[in-house]
Amino acid sequence: MQTIIEPFKIKSVEPIRMTTRDERERILREASFNVFKVAARDVIIDLLTDSGTGAMSSEQWAAMMRADEAYAGADSYYRFRDSVREITGFDHILPTHQGRASERILFRLVGKPGLVIPNNAHFDTTRANVEDSGAEAVDLPIEEAKNSSSSHPFKGNMNIAALEALIDRVGADRIPLVMVTVTNNSGGGQPVSLENLRAVRKVCDRHRLPLFLDACRFAENAWFIRKRAPGQQDRTVREIVREMFDLADGATISAKKDGLVNIGGVLLMRDDALFQNASTTLILTEGFVTYGGLAGRDLDAMAQGFQEVVEHDYLSYRVRSTEYLGMKLLEAGIQIVEPPGGHAIFIDAGHFCPHIPAEQFPGQAVACGLYRYGGIRASEIGSVMFGGEGRPAPNMELVRLAIPRRTYTQSHVDYVVEATIELFKDRESLKGLKIIEQPPSLRHFQARFAEI
Ligand SMILES: *Cc1c(COP(=O)(O)O)cnc(C)c1O
Repeated sequence: MQTIIEPFKIKSVEPIRMTTRDERERILREASFNVFKVAARDVIIDLLTDSGTGAMSSEQWAAMMRADEAYAGADSYYRFRDSVREITGFDHILPTHQGRASERILFRLVGKPGLVIPNNAHFDTTRANVEDSGAEAVDLPIEEAKNSSSSHPFKGNMNIAALEALIDRVGADRIPLVMVTVTNNSGGGQPVSLENLRAVRKVCDRHRLPLFLDACRFAENAWFIRKRAPGQQDRTVREIVREMFDLADGATISAKKDGLVNIGGVLLMRDDALFQNASTTLILTEGFVTYGGLAGRDLDAMAQGFQEVVEHDYLSYRVRSTEYLGMKLLEAGIQIVEPPGGHAIFIDAGHFCPHIPAEQFPGQAVACGLYRYGGIRASEIGSVMFGGEGRPAPNMELVRLAIPRRTYTQSHVDYVVEATIELFKDRESLKGLKIIEQPPSLRHFQARFAEI
């Protein structure tokens, strides 16, 4: 069958408030052309992020009612720990309130001025936490990642030669750990191959460096490995996930992605001393080690979510639905980062509106256009997010249509396709933007813009 159907039925519905084009024009101006400042009730299809925006299952809601809210040693904690241990194989498991809390604890312990943290591509909060520790965040994507029309099956891979060269240049003693982001969010939601992870592991072994995963989308990454890598088709996602984690010495996870929950995070590690220090920091900044800034019910929702996310029916629908959106845009002549990623479609805004130069934020212009045309909210991933004082220009100007998990139906996807194609036909009308006010870091969340 060609028709994509959701492998679930709807038990509870949340109305969407429809808006008119005139209303949206006024709202966009009031928000200073920054869709982060638009109220969610004024959005028809919210593709700002796939983070914490998913729908939970009836089993997750049931688990939340069963939760134990004891401060220390709650049953919910043990269920969370056992579930994460079963999926990842790690012994040292800390709950945190979300991914960046795990990053904050990790880099506070391993980062300091003079040190360098390589990654295939740091996510924005990861980079901000590395830099906040005083260390330098270096991205080492493969060459193909810089070309939106290259259809390399594992475009999220780390550039192994560049990693070797970096270690030679700065010295292994200045690198506290190597990080690999699966899937590579900033690079287009592209997967990392098992082969590449093994190669990074080898380099790390040779230089005695720990390897950490930014494993927010570990299940989607494993699904791509199963689909695309020769010889992986007969394995289960669970097996592949386990092999990915077995290659690592630790991981940070935002459970708001493949944990299928609205809030939660995990910090994993093998080293006993690091775990001791991380536990102390967790107590200082998040909460006791058996709840990590979360309610017991959040831990139970994660325990169940990690089990559901590795189901093949779910992943098959998830990745196919995202791919469908990408293919429809490509057929209409809209350049996206190819091949379609797992959690999002990244529109190449430089190609979408070539009349707007990078300094005038073409990605931001397209994001504003999508809101005007369809009440669709998407995120700029380009010069607004990564640019600024003293930073190198990003390789591509992208707009991310991130797909919340189990939240929108296939007809919602068709609506997004239609609105995006209409905007594309009228792309000459898009105007560049300039920043009129911005905070010192993570400016995309709060900056105010004006049309040029
Ligand atoms: C979302 C995300 C994070 C940060 O997680 P939060 O839960 O938003 O704090 C880190 N890395 C990657 C790759 C992500 O996608």
